[in-house]
Order: sequence, then C-alpha cells, then structure tokens
Amino acid sequence: MTNSLARMIAREDALEEAGMPADERTTCYAHKAWAFECADQHLPLTAGRVLAALREVDRVRWHAAGARRRP
Ligand SMILES: [Zn+2]
Repeated sequence: MTNSLARMIAREDALEEAGMPADERTTCYAHKAWAFECADQHLPLTAGRVLAALREVDRVRWHAAGARRRP
C-alpha cells in the first residue's frame, strides 16, 4: 500500500464517520485499495452470483470427499 493510498483511506474513514455516503469513497476500506481496483469484488449479490457461489462450494466439497476416499 502506498503512503498516499494509506492517507486517503484514513481521510475517507474520517469523512465517512462525519457523514459522507460510503459510495462517494475513492478508496476501499475492506480491501485497503483504491475503489476502482476492487470494484468488481463489490458487485451486488444476484441470483446468478449466489448460484455460482453455491456450485463452487459443492465442487470444493466433492473434491474434498473424493480426496478422502482415495487410499
Ligand atoms: Zn474493495
């Protein structure tokens, strides 16, 4: 993380605490990054995304179970 990014995150933390709407941030508190760098990780949950996530969980469980059954 660069110093300017760290300073901006701290500044926007303070601004948000003072009432600035979260969607006006140019930095991401969650990812400690510029907002544009992780924008694709903040898409709202849609049915399709939830289903894709559930399929991924199933896939991981299936592989874990298969790995345990092998000698
Ligand atoms: Zn983020």
